[in-house]
Amino acid sequence: MRLIDHFVVGGVRSPSVRHGDIFDPNTGQIQARVVLGDQAVLDAAVTAAQAAQPAWAAMNAQRRARVLFRFKDLIEQNMQSLAELLSSEHGKVIDDAKGDIQRGLEVVEFCCGIPQALKGEYSHGAGPGIDVYSMRQPLGVGAGITPFNFPAMIPLWMFAPAVAAGNTFILKPSERDPSVPNRLAELFLEAGAPEGVLQVVHGDKEMVDAILDHPGIAAVSFVGSSDIAQYVYSRGVAAGKRVQAMGGAKNHAIVMPDADMDQAVADIIGAAYGSAGERCMALPVAVPIGEKTAEILREKLVSAIATLNVGISSDPQAQYGPVVTAIHKRRVEDWIQTGVDEGAELVVDGRGFSLQGYEDGFFVGPTLFDRVTTEMSAYREEIFGPVLQIVRAKDFEEALELPTRHQYGNGVAIFTRNGHAAREFAARVQVGMVGINVPIPVPVSYHSFGGWKRSAFGDHNQYGMEGLRFWTKTKLVTQRWPDGGAGDSAFIIPTMG
Ligand code: NAD
Repeated sequence: MRLIDHFVVGGVRSPSVRHGDIFDPNTGQIQARVVLGDQAVLDAAVTAAQAAQPAWAAMNAQRRARVLFRFKDLIEQNMQSLAELLSSEHGKVIDDAKGDIQRGLEVVEFCCGIPQALKGEYSHGAGPGIDVYSMRQPLGVGAGITPFNFPAMIPLWMFAPAVAAGNTFILKPSERDPSVPNRLAELFLEAGAPEGVLQVVHGDKEMVDAILDHPGIAAVSFVGSSDIAQYVYSRGVAAGKRVQAMGGAKNHAIVMPDADMDQAVADIIGAAYGSAGERCMALPVAVPIGEKTAEILREKLVSAIATLNVGISSDPQAQYGPVVTAIHKRRVEDWIQTGVDEGAELVVDGRGFSLQGYEDGFFVGPTLFDRVTTEMSAYREEIFGPVLQIVRAKDFEEALELPTRHQYGNGVAIFTRNGHAAREFAARVQVGMVGINVPIPVPVSYHSFGGWKRSAFGDHNQYGMEGLRFWTKTKLVTQRWPDGGAGDSAFIIPTMG
């Protein structure tokens, strides 16, 4: 059976005997095994990363950018095979896998402009003969811990800015779909990066804890579920590291009575069921305003669901594929039962979905609930599956309150033709990323990504200038070049006055 090993300098094989199973979610069969590393593997990776870092940081930014330009080319050349590999372990359809890679690639493109982005500030003549300038310097060795649902995009969000800024990087990807991260590291080396600049270690909690406690790692970026994000944040900060930790989500789609209903339905269907709902920017909650809007929305959603094509991830006709593991499938189905038990109206039941020839695959059919209320745990918690819940609101204020009060604050969307209402909504809602007639408002690579409340712990968003700020520290230099003659000692705090 294929063994997925660490991608570290010297090819250290894990002395650990622990392994994780990698499934083909379409068939339910185990297709590979991944090593689950330990402290010894991490120690070796950190030593190699520390050894590589000074020379990498000393290389001028334009030369680092050239490596990134070549890396971008290599990702483009390998797009099809990367997408197939990603899809085979994750279960998302091939075109969606290409989108996953493309959104990460766009962060690499942004980082190709690193010489410009790292420029500091300069104040000439801040005092008599005195100039002040700032520079951004790398932190040293950084680490990234990533979730299963975007095995290309999220590692690229993290390591592209980190290495562009002159750090070396250790990636600990999800143990459920680890092959694409390894392949990206191979391509980065092929692009001309020195050994040790980017390494991949595989593992589970044991490896995460080793990363959080390791004194040789200066900063940790995490994306995953909220309880673990909070744990990672607390433990990493306690160990003196800089930490950003993005968590889970429960994003709402507000549908105003004046919305273009066909467009809103098409957008909500794609955002609720695409990638089997396994996106942190999915739209699992629809909030129609007023009973009339609710009835129209429900009817149109039911008709649209009836035409959805769920299939194996390599089927070009399929709109979404299986969820990632059998455990996750069971979890999603348990949440559907919880929704029923709590009194929500199950309009379309996706449980028991079976695809001929793939009866052991991890498929869940599209599921729709109506009359979901805020007291229900199935509303409060993230399900992360193809389950859409309708929560009816009586007016705009009630609709605004729902995402504002929810424990998560990642993304939200409003569908309307009313510019004033949309503007008001965007300004007042307590959520980090807002879409106006845009269902999945993942910011472009030259802005940055981050939620509010339990969707993100720590400071600084992912990628864009925020990402570069996370991966660098600012140094301020105040300089004077006297033209001779000793000055007097000053015993008061220096001022420029
Ligand atoms: P997860 O929290 O199970 O795993 C994320 C990472 O944490 C993995 O690398 C995993 O190995 C590690 N991990 C798992 N259990 C751990 C433990 N007990 N202690 C320490 N580390 C542990 O998340 P997932 O299921 O892989 O991904 C889905 C979750 O990620 C969802 O909640 C989703 O909303 C969230 N997500 C958030 C964003 C965002 O940007 N806010 C983006 C994508 C996914």
